[in-house]
Amino acid sequence: MSDPILTIVVPCFNEEEVLPITINELTRLLTELEQEMLISPNSKILFVDDGSKDHTWDIIYQSGLNNRRVKGLKLSTNVGHQQALLAGLFSAKEHSDCIVSIDADLQDDIRAIREFIKKFHDGFEVVLGVRNERKTDTFFKKHTAQGFYKLMKKMGVNIVYNHADFRLMSRRAVEKLENFGEINLFLRGIVPLIGFNTTHVYYNRKERLAGETKYPLKKMLSFALDGITSFSVTPIRFVSLVGFVSFLVSLIFGGYFILLKFTGNTTTGWTSLITSIWLIGGLQLIAIGFIGEYIGKIYKETKRRPRYIVDIDTFNLAYPVLSDEN
Ligand code: UDP
Ligand code: MG
Repeated sequence: MSDPILTIVVPCFNEEEVLPITINELTRLLTELEQEMLISPNSKILFVDDGSKDHTWDIIYQSGLNNRRVKGLKLSTNVGHQQALLAGLFSAKEHSDCIVSIDADLQDDIRAIREFIKKFHDGFEVVLGVRNERKTDTFFKKHTAQGFYKLMKKMGVNIVYNHADFRLMSRRAVEKLENFGEINLFLRGIVPLIGFNTTHVYYNRKERLAGETKYPLKKMLSFALDGITSFSVTPIRFVSLVGFVSFLVSLIFGGYFILLKFTGNTTTGWTSLITSIWLIGGLQLIAIGFIGEYIGKIYKETKRRPRYIVDIDTFNLAYPVLSDEN
């Protein structure tokens, strides 16, 4: 096999602080990999600007002018990490034999990419980066993330523990992603469904190089809920089960109170009344919430809106490379 063309896809949302470092580090890595004859000299880095409000796009565009390895894809609005990543994968696959996805903040150890490529040479089509530990995460993030993986597993979603979106996929594997029609693709859950020859590479996760997390609690929760409801109907079953149990409990309580009435020990009943109203009301709200979540999904999917809209794609642009520093 001749050296494969690698494209590294990097979704970026307001990453101006960290981008210059990221561009340097990844360019250096590509040069090394090229010298080691692991990848083709045509390998590139594709930065996907996910509708950033800062100078992210300017940085990408400008560095593309004097670095032949840097390509840019500008989305017209912010569509979120997963969709931005998909946009990058789909654009990159035309030009690549294999594609690595990595976050812009370089929390994932880029040295693992060398191992990814070696595995690709060994014939693996999907290589998942798996974190050894989560030393650098806050206590809160670590535990919520662990809980999330456990919950997903329990609900029958096959995701790899401590694997985020740091992975290598062959061009063929990326092409298969297009067969998954759902608009809201949760990549971590979908990739195992492709089922090609898959392996893991372990690495240590670092602190964000600069800037703030783009995943505040609100986004994290919506991501988790999305992941669960995209793949599993367990919450609906769980709600029905809780409903059934509470129905039984209320029957028992009802019987008990009727018995009390006949024995003449009628209490004012306020406490039981008010607690059951709150209990049932609460349960109903939870149930409606979950049902709403699924209906919302159906609603979104039936509209078949585009996942993202590309504004500028410098891969396909007749793009002037003024000089080649690297
Ligand atoms: N990101 C994106 N669109 C968004 C939010 C985030 O493209 O709406 C990108 C972000 O620039 C980064 C990656 O997704 O490259 C992961 O985000 P972040 O590092 O903030 O998440 P964390 O590592 O804190 O979970
Ligand atoms: Mg990060």
